[in-house]
Amino acid sequence: MLDALYKPKSVAIIGASTKELSIGNRIIKNLLDFGFKGSVYPINPKADEVRGIRAYNSILDVSSEIDLAHVIIPNKFVPQAVEDCGKKGVKVAIINSAGFKEIGGEGILLEEQVVKKAKEYNVRVFGPNCQGIINTNPNVRAYCNFTFTKPETGCISIIAQSGGVGEVINQRFSELDVGIRMYASNGNACDISIPEIIRYWSDDEQTRVIVVHVENLSNPKEFMEAAKETAVKKPILGMKTGRTKEGAKAVSSHTGGLAKIDIATELIFKKCGIVTFRDQEELCQAAVAFASQPIPKGKRVGIITNTGGPAIIATDELVEAGLEIPQLSNNAIKILKEKLYSAASVNNPIDVLATGGGEHFRAALDVLMNEPQIDSIFINFVTPFFVDTDMISQEIVEENKAHKKPIICNLMTDKRQWTKTINILKNGGVPCYSLPETAARALIAMTRYNDLKAREIGEVQIFNDVDREKARRIIKESKKEGGEFLPAEKVNNLLAAYNIPIAKWGLVNNSKEVLKEARKIGFPVVVKVDTKSIVHKSDVGGIALNLEEKEVESTVKDMERKFTAEKPSFFVQEFLSGGKELIIGAKAEKDLGHLILFGIGGIYVEILKDVAFGITPITALEAKEMLSSIKSYSLLSGFRGEKGVDQEKLVEILQRVSQLVTELPMVQEIDLNPIIAYENRVVVVDARIRI
Ligand code: ADP
Ligand code: MG
Repeated sequence: MLDALYKPKSVAIIGASTKELSIGNRIIKNLLDFGFKGSVYPINPKADEVRGIRAYNSILDVSSEIDLAHVIIPNKFVPQAVEDCGKKGVKVAIINSAGFKEIGGEGILLEEQVVKKAKEYNVRVFGPNCQGIINTNPNVRAYCNFTFTKPETGCISIIAQSGGVGEVINQRFSELDVGIRMYASNGNACDISIPEIIRYWSDDEQTRVIVVHVENLSNPKEFMEAAKETAVKKPILGMKTGRTKEGAKAVSSHTGGLAKIDIATELIFKKCGIVTFRDQEELCQAAVAFASQPIPKGKRVGIITNTGGPAIIATDELVEAGLEIPQLSNNAIKILKEKLYSAASVNNPIDVLATGGGEHFRAALDVLMNEPQIDSIFINFVTPFFVDTDMISQEIVEENKAHKKPIICNLMTDKRQWTKTINILKNGGVPCYSLPETAARALIAMTRYNDLKAREIGEVQIFNDVDREKARRIIKESKKEGGEFLPAEKVNNLLAAYNIPIAKWGLVNNSKEVLKEARKIGFPVVVKVDTKSIVHKSDVGGIALNLEEKEVESTVKDMERKFTAEKPSFFVQEFLSGGKELIIGAKAEKDLGHLILFGIGGIYVEILKDVAFGITPITALEAKEMLSSIKSYSLLSGFRGEKGVDQEKLVEILQRVSQLVTELPMVQEIDLNPIIAYENRVVVVDARIRI
């Protein structure tokens, strides 16, 4: 339980300072200014008081109980301070001091000492190298943080791995006049982790929305579990930064973590139902809507407008994101015809005209609230001087009180003149935006959350026709023989053990043996050199395709001459013409499992880069989504009379590869490229496995 961190009754500041511009002074000022409901104990052996509060020599000299201690002293004294905290019975220490894992070398050792002391003395640690927390709960008012923005009370809780990002987000909410509930920026996170905090907020009823910023996930599995459980209860809006190689480098040099997982983070977000953003502004604006509005139950939007152009912009934005603007029922149209001006537009979008007043907006709102095929309402409201705009605001607020369907309002006005109109909406809890795009994106984000929540990915299917014993034996043997890559024969046997279809094949030692083997397989055949040293056979002329009986032997003879130094064996394979070349691959990711890949394969895979990723183990539905999310999906489904490929079989192979790497975690990389696919057959013709 993190109550001692978020609801402390008393806070000690180890390293309290009389210097105005120091963190040890600022935190005391923040606690006092924010109206902290508990007691504050400055600890400073050289001062009698700090900011007018009695200071103590040591935390051990304080006679009352202390829940939480800030530690703001030079890094090398921190382990001792943690020990003192333990002796005093302090439950949580926020270590603001820097100079730990993030500086490497001795910093890493120091952080280990902190963790050790904390375990030994039963103290939970928040940080080090961090800002701290805020709790705006009126009964607590804890500003245990050295930054400066004083948030209003609200229902958004923010956790940011980067204190800088956290502060910017906090600041933006403040500018948008939206309150927050709790805040956390835990820096190196040596003990209390982001997942633990997410879980805490999951149970906090007053937190309606969680905002998460991460640079890297030190424990992706734990994060995934916590976020998944939470995201079904309340929306998590997430942002991952350090997506580019350069960005990731900046991350690892300024926080304690290493940028371990990159592409995986966005997949993790998706897998656990986090609404993902690439832009802080968009995230904050969306959070405003999430904070006050019910979640739309679907993607059908009803639009009410009193001006043309901006409604068109909103419509474009919504429709491009996959939302719908459905026609209204005859009954709805009939009502609108009765209640609106005759020149008004009585279908969706409903144009009440610039001369439309409160009663017209109300009539349109009533209709949309009652239309079963409408899930959310977008109001485009410009404030003309010739109507009573306060009245319009009031009618919108009345309708909003019922909390029946989400309402988003794009309010176009002069903020200095129409203050009353604006305040009615604001106090009535209607999220207002000053541009149609911004408002539309907030509604899109809410609809996305509903989609994610409603999404049933199904159960992971386990294939029991696989020969696990044999597969393990093959890997064991290869390990003994040494070498990272499995030889081609073993690769094929391993795939066969998992019932992954491979092209008919045989292995021969020289040109003399080849004809006999090729006859068994049937002509035409393909011959490939097989040695440990050659990774890409086609790059070095190690492949001969479409060979007929008369040319096989001489071709292999030529290859023998060409690759004398490598002493190769030869792989003989059936020649498969006219199929589509695809790729399936998987790669181990530390602390997560494997990333699995599907896409257009063959020798152009790196150029086309038309691939989709997933996190193993994947379900059939996730596999299907991977297929349909590549750009060239129409190649798979068929177009212009050309036949598609056996997608069901591909989905099955993806699941089998997922099962293979899950059951054989020592497989670092598997690369099936190409897989040749036809309308009713799919076969692997080249595979590599690295252990
Ligand atoms: P590598 O990846 O080592 O260069 P591959 O075995 O993937 O070698 O072969 C390269 C290309 O040759 C494939 O992308 C495919 O176009 C073609 N190819 C390989 N094997 C066959 C086969 N059995 N039937 C038809 N074409 C093949
Ligand atoms: Mg290949």
